[in-house]
Parts: sequence; structure tokens; C-alpha cells
Amino acid sequence: MTGSQHRMPSGASRSRLIVVLLAFVSLLVLALVWQAIQTAASNRATATRVLQDYGRLAADEFTRRAMVNVGYTGYFAHINALRRQLDQGADILLQPLGALADDEVRRAAQLARLHFIVRESVGAQFSSPVTSDVEAFVTERARTVASRSLDATPLVIEHTQFDGRSQTFVFEIAPDGVFGFQVDRSVLGERLNEVFAGDPLLPESLARGAVGNDSLYLEFSDDNGEVLFSTRSEYDSYLLTTKVIDDAYSGIFLGHSVAIAIDASAAEALIIGGLPQSRLPLLLATVLLTVVLFAAALLQLRREYALMKMRSDFVAEVSHELRTPLAQIRMFIETLLLERFETADDKRRALEVINRESQRLIHLVDNVLRFSGENGKAPPFNVDSGPLAPMVARVVDEFRLLADAADSTIELELDEEAEAAFDEDALRRMLLNLLDNAVKYGPDGQRIVVGVQSVDGGARLSVRDQGPGIPAAEREKIWDAYYRLPREQDAAIAGTGIGLAVVADLVRRLGGKVWVESGDEGATFIVELPRAASA
Ligand code: ADP
Repeated sequence: MTGSQHRMPSGASRSRLIVVLLAFVSLLVLALVWQAIQTAASNRATATRVLQDYGRLAADEFTRRAMVNVGYTGYFAHINALRRQLDQGADILLQPLGALADDEVRRAAQLARLHFIVRESVGAQFSSPVTSDVEAFVTERARTVASRSLDATPLVIEHTQFDGRSQTFVFEIAPDGVFGFQVDRSVLGERLNEVFAGDPLLPESLARGAVGNDSLYLEFSDDNGEVLFSTRSEYDSYLLTTKVIDDAYSGIFLGHSVAIAIDASAAEALIIGGLPQSRLPLLLATVLLTVVLFAAALLQLRREYALMKMRSDFVAEVSHELRTPLAQIRMFIETLLLERFETADDKRRALEVINRESQRLIHLVDNVLRFSGENGKAPPFNVDSGPLAPMVARVVDEFRLLADAADSTIELELDEEAEAAFDEDALRRMLLNLLDNAVKYGPDGQRIVVGVQSVDGGARLSVRDQGPGIPAAEREKIWDAYYRLPREQDAAIAGTGIGLAVVADLVRRLGGKVWVESGDEGATFIVELPRAASA
């Protein structure tokens, strides 16, 4: 026992060290996963920022081109045409364009819905009827425009609303007043559409022109929130950026905004490595796997530890079991040598004890050998088919000596006809183990019944004792190596826990079954062997 007690703490502390190491490794994995999640998130944030920057670039370019299209070749061109007409003394309300107007001039004129001219003497006049709101607005603004110094920006563009609808007016100073036009917003939308349908907004140098405007979502709306132009409706909202236009270019788009988003699918071409994929599921799976592996390792360690403990208990028990018969044998031999026995009967009894104890020793050593054989290579069977009864009777006779020592009687109930396939040595070993247990765990003076019966396809061998029996919950476990019932820990009955494991192994190799039945009194161990061995 001392040996095992000695070994236990070192084994326990080794297990503890392994647990700590495992926990450490698991923590390391968790830390790495966490790191990976953080890195992925920051990569994604960077990539998103880059895409948004490109989006802003495209929005700036769109605004610039829209200003050129609508402003320079639109409003300005048209105002210039109107001024030319005025200079020539034409009535721009009736004849906004001269007879020689070219395509560009005509195109610019399409942006005008109606024209007006405001003179001090006659007030505001319009090329077509207008509401009083419009008239009042134009009259009032014309006054402000007229009061401006001439070197200020020549053109004044006013955004306003009537009945909640956005309207845009363009004013310019004439020699005898103020003239201008109201913008046709549907044409404005067409022009913006034209800009978008034109050259790619992102510079060619980016992604070698691989990202065209079809990879962009763009919405252009005025200061009133009215949408003037929009591409499709779906976009990745996290990539959306909005640019609000300042008063550049005479405030042509003052307060208007461009909302833009580059398609995530275009990221591949714009950013090296594209938009980092979310690897969260993979990482979570890694975490899960780590936890599972950790748990599995702990379980395995626990089993290992239990096995280790059983082994060391086993070694202690075997040593103990060897020591007792050896001590007895030695004592009787010494007495014989000193010729201390007086009668021949005493001498004979001493020799009987020596015989019995040496038989027990052989039995024990056989078991251990058989058991280590099971773990290594088992000795081959010499399987023979025949009646069990003669063999069983022989083994019981052999054992009687040991049974007598406990005053136990062994009765035979043998069916001479019962046949099965068996190996002599294996059958002997099984029976000896079962008988040994019956004597060991049963009370002195008990009746043990060994039976052989015919059954369908083979024979049945049984050993019934009058001992304490086996609790139902333990009837499976007793067949495990090193397993002993808990009650044996307090009882003084020596054992190694391998006897039944040896029996189970032999029976399995003969293709049979073994089990235990236990009622109010005693246990019955039953071995069933088939007529034709499968081994
Ligand atoms: P050992 O007898 O060396 O302890 P075994 O493998 O032969 O090992 O038996 C395992 C356990 O099963 C024993 O420790 C004992 O608790 C129980 N056992 C075996 N045979 C009997 C029996 N006939 N009656 C009561 N308990 C038994």
C-alpha cells in the first residue's frame, strides 16, 4: 500500500500540470481568435473607409461634371443667348433665341421653362402665365439682384419652393432691369442622367478602369430633399457617404446633396485583397472545437488517472495476495524441517496446507499471466467440442481442497449430455476463478452448486453460492479489469479485480456469453458456450 500511496501524489500533480497546460493552450487559442476577430474588424473598417473615400471622389467628380453640364453649357450659355437677344433689341419673352442659334444654344435653352424680364417702369413680365407667388418672388428677387454691384458673379441662381415643390430661377442684370428664366426640372434630371451615363466617375488609374458607373449607387437631391436623379435603389448602407454641395459656381447646386455608395463587389478591383470576408463562423467554430477538445482531454485525463490508481492498487493487492500463502508455506516447511510435528496426521495436515497454498499461488500467478497475456498476445486456444461434465467434475475435485478449508461443500448438478466447444485450459481457468470467488465472498460452511445444462445451440455452466450477491447496479462493472465492489475496500477479503475480467475475456474468445444473476441470497454466475466456437 505504501508504494501506491507514494506514487499517487506525483501522478496527481502530473495530471494537474497537464490540466494547467491544457487550460493555458485553450486560453491562448481564445486570445488568438479574439485577436483575429479584432484584426478582421479593423481591416474591414479600413477597407470600408477606403471605399467611402473613393465614393466621395466619385461624388466630387459627379458634382463637377454636373456643374459644367448644367451650369457652364446650360444656364450660362442660355443667359448669354438671352443677353445677345436683348442687345439686339429682341423681346426675349417672345423670341428667346436668335435665328442663327446653333445646336449648343438650343440645347441650353431646353433648361428654361419660362422667361421673365423685370423693368422698373413696367414691373415683371413672363413668357407664359404664372401664379401670383411666382410673380411676387421674381419681382422681389429682381430688386435685390438689381442692387448688386456689377463685378459680383454675373449670374444669380435662386432655389425656392412653391406649395412645397422645389423651383429654381436664374437671374441676370440687363441694361434696363433684370431678366432670367425658370428652370425646367425634368430637363435638369435628364442632364444629371446624362452625366451619370457618361465617362466613369472614378479615375481610370484606379482599378485600371475596371470599376464603371454601374458599380455605383448615386442619388442627387436638392436642398428640399426632392430627388432630381437616382440610380437603382439597393446599395450596401455601410458604404454610403453623402456630400452636401456648397455655393460654388454661383450656388447652382447650393445645399444639394449627392449620396453615393460603391458596390461591395467592386471592392475586389479597388482594394488589394478586396473587402475582408467575415470569418466569424470559422472563428466561432474554432472556439467551440477548442472547448470540446479541452473537455475531451480532461475526460481522458480523468480516465487515465482512474486507471493509474486501479493499476497501483492492483500491484499492491497482488503483492499482498502472494505474501500470505508464501508466509504460510514457509511457516509449515520450517516446522517440518525442525521436525516439530508429533503425529503423522499433523505432518500430513501441514503438507496439505502447503499443497493448498501453493495451488492458490499458482492460480493467482496464472491469472496475472493470463491477464497480461490478454493485453499482449493471448495464448492460442485448443478448441475441442465435447461434453462439459467430465472436465467440470475434474476441476471441482481439484478445487475441493480449497473449498474444504472454508468448510464449503460443492455439489454437482451435471447434465452429461451437454456439449459445447471449449479449450480445456480456458474452461479450467474460468471455473477456478468462479469457484475461488464463491468461496472467497461466501460464508464459511456454505453450499456451492456447480451446474452444467444443455441449452439451445450449446451448454451452460453455472456456479451458485450463498454469499452476499452482486447489487444490480454493479453487475456490469464487475467484469472490468481491476474493478472491485466498493464494499471490498473495508472487508478484509484480498483480491486483485482481474479474476472476472479474465473470465469475461475467455468467454468472449470462445464466442460465448457470461452474466451474473443475483436474488435475495447468493450470486449465480452463468457461462454460456456455443457448440461451435467462433474463435
Ligand atoms: P477479485 O475477486 O480479485 O476482487 P474479481 O474480478 O474476481 O476480482 O471480482 C470482482 C469483484 O466482484 C470482487 O471484488 C467482488 O466484489 C465481486 N464478486 C465476484 N464474485 C463474487 C461473488 N461470488 N459474490 C459476491 N461478490 C463477488
